[in-house]
Amino acid sequence: MTGFHWHDHHFINRQPALDFANMVVWRGQPGREEDRGGSAENLAGWAVFAGLSPPMSSVDRCVAAREAIDGYFRSGAGWPALATLYAETLTENRDTFLTTILHQAMTLAFSPDAKRVRVCGNCGWLFIDRTRNANKRWCITGVCGSRAKARRYYARKKERISAST
Ligand SMILES: [Zn+2]
Repeated sequence: MTGFHWHDHHFINRQPALDFANMVVWRGQPGREEDRGGSAENLAGWAVFAGLSPPMSSVDRCVAAREAIDGYFRSGAGWPALATLYAETLTENRDTFLTTILHQAMTLAFSPDAKRVRVCGNCGWLFIDRTRNANKRWCITGVCGSRAKARRYYARKKERISAST
C-alpha cells in the first residue's frame, strides 16, 4: 500500500466534517502545506478509518467539499459553496460518503459548537474548543502547544546570540 497511512491522531475531532478538512496540514504555510487527501487511494483509506463507506464521488468533488467545509469553519467564507454542494449531494450525487460528511458539516454549522471552532496556532488544523473559558489555542496542547513553545525558545536564543555578537 502506497497511500498515506492514517492514524487515530489524524481524527482529533471524532466527527467527520472537521477531520475531513484536516486532511490538509500546515494550511497556508508556504513550503510546508501538505494535502494528504488529494488521491482516490488516500480518500478511500481515510473513509475506512473514519468508519464511512468509500467515496463514490470524484476526487475533485471530494476536495471541493472539503475546501468548502474548511473555508466556512476557518473564516466564515464560502457558505454558498457549502450549501450548494450539500443540496447537490442530497438530490443528484447521492454519494453516502459525501452526504454523511456534508450533513455533519451543516449540523455543526447550526449547533452551538460552531462558535467554538478554532484554528490551531501551530499546525492549522480545525478543532472544537470545549474549554470553559474558550481559550484553547492548540489542537492538541501536548503536541502543538509544546512545539510552538520550543520554536519561541529557539527564536529568543537566536536573538540573544545575534545581539551578543
Ligand atoms: Zn495543531
